[in-house]
Formats: sequence, structure tokens, C-alpha cells
Amino acid sequence: MANHNNLAIEARHLVKRYAELEVLKDVSLDVHEGHVVSIIGSSGSGKSTLLRCMNLLETPDSGDLTIAGESLSFSQNIRAGVSQNTRAGIKRRQLQRLRTQVSMVFQQFNLWPHLSVLGNVIEAPMRVRGLSKREAITLGEHYLERVGMADKRDQYPAYLSGGQQQRVAIARALAMEPRVLLFDEPTSALDPELVNEVLGVIHGLADEGRTMLLVTHEMGFARDVSHQVAFLHQGCVEEIGTPAHVFETATSERCRQFVSSVA
Ligand code: ADP
Ligand code: MG
Repeated sequence: MANHNNLAIEARHLVKRYAELEVLKDVSLDVHEGHVVSIIGSSGSGKSTLLRCMNLLETPDSGDLTIAGESLSFSQNIRAGVSQNTRAGIKRRQLQRLRTQVSMVFQQFNLWPHLSVLGNVIEAPMRVRGLSKREAITLGEHYLERVGMADKRDQYPAYLSGGQQQRVAIARALAMEPRVLLFDEPTSALDPELVNEVLGVIHGLADEGRTMLLVTHEMGFARDVSHQVAFLHQGCVEEIGTPAHVFETATSERCRQFVSSVA
């Protein structure tokens, strides 16, 4: 069901600290349903932390987040002895709903080594979405087909190239049939000749109108697929706008420098 205001992600004043280090200072970001937003910025600027806050792998210290229809408000009322998310007052049910609606693809693929390709893809649909094994296999085969990995369904991750592993990881994320896909530098761990097969899959997903938040160092790709690009600097969105704006007419000098240094 589409959000009434058409936003899949609405982040307001997110703050995240690790002890003394304020990694996200005051981040607000909108992602419209069906849009692709790319996050660029130097190493250590907080890109991964921001993405991890979106599916509550990290809990923000303050701010508000509405994502895939779940609204969360964060404040610091820390009590010892309970998990980070429980501490923030997030109900287990809500967390579970959010995790079924928001899927993440990691730089290092993070496939389970002891499970086959198909095993990796059907695990969460069975365990988290409660599908039967038969249903999960049908779904898994569909998405493996989608990423061009159907013929490897019985293979184990160790026997696959990095590009193939990442395509399986994308199929695994898709098999949750999420409303939002998060990608954290999905091609950074790949040998250069394997980058394009993964970018091609992500490009296809963008063309389908999937809602995606993408951290990437592939500037040409970001420019190509994104509706909006956000430049993060020291935990702040320093520049945001259309790709043409961020890559050509950015007002932030730091953004201009970053873009020209990676071009
Ligand atoms: P990016 O993805 O842009 O490279 P990160 O979000 O990974 O940046 O990290 C931003 C900053 O937060 C860095 O200084 C990093 O060292 C720090 N940081 C990230 N995760 C943790 C953590 N779990 N504990 C302490 N500091 C962290
Ligand atoms: Mg990172």
C-alpha cells in the first residue's frame, strides 16, 4: 500500500553516536516510493551508519524515522540490560515488520557459507515471513532467475565468484519482497571485471521502479540511476539534489572537491 504522502522513507533529524563520536549529526532525508536515492561521500562520513539506521541494525539516539509504513521516534532513555532496540522502545513486532519490508545488500555479500544458493534465498522467507518451504522455493527460483543465477541454485557460495555471490545476495533480499532495498557499496569488494554484472542487476531493479537507497562509489552509475543524490560529510547531508545538480552545480565546495576527486 502506498504511503499517503508517497514517501517510502522519511528520516528527520537522525542522530547517532558511538560514545563521544557523533557519527550522524542531524540527518534528514526523503525517499519517494519508486525512487532511487544514492548516498556518496568519503570514507568515514557516516554512509554505512545511516543505512544501518534505516533497518535498525543500529538504533539512532534521536530523531524520527518513517520507513515502509513503520513510524519510529528515537530518544535517549537508556536502561542497562536490554537490547539496543528494546531500550529505544521499539516493539519486537514492529521490528520484525520493518525487517520484512526493508532488505539490505552488504558490501561483503554476507551469504551463509553452509547453505546452498537456494538455501540462502529461502531461509528468511520461511523463517521471517512464515512461507512454507514449497512457497519459498518457488519464490527463490523466481528471484534467482531474475539475477541470472538459477543454474547455480545447488552450488555453495565458496564456489561462486564475488559477482555471482552478490547477485545471490540481491536475490535473497528480493525474496523478502520488500518495499525498500538498501545497498551498502554493493560492488566495492568486487574485482573490476565483475562490477558490471552486479550494476546491471541493480539497474534493472531501478528500471522496475523499486525504491532503493544506495551507497556507492560508482559515480557514473549513481548519476545514471538516481532520482536524487545526497553527499554526506561528517555526519551531515551537505548537498542533496538531482544528479545533475550534485555532480555539476553543487554549492558545497567540499562536494565539488569530492566529486572531482572520484570522477
Ligand atoms: P562510511 O560508511 O561513510 O565509511 P561509517 O558509517 O562506517 O562511514 O563510519 C562513520 C564513523 O563512525 C567512522 O569514524 C567509524 O569509525 C565510526 N563507527 C562506525 N561504526 C562504529 C561502531 N560500531 N563503533 C564505533 N565507531 C563506529
Ligand atoms: Mg561504509
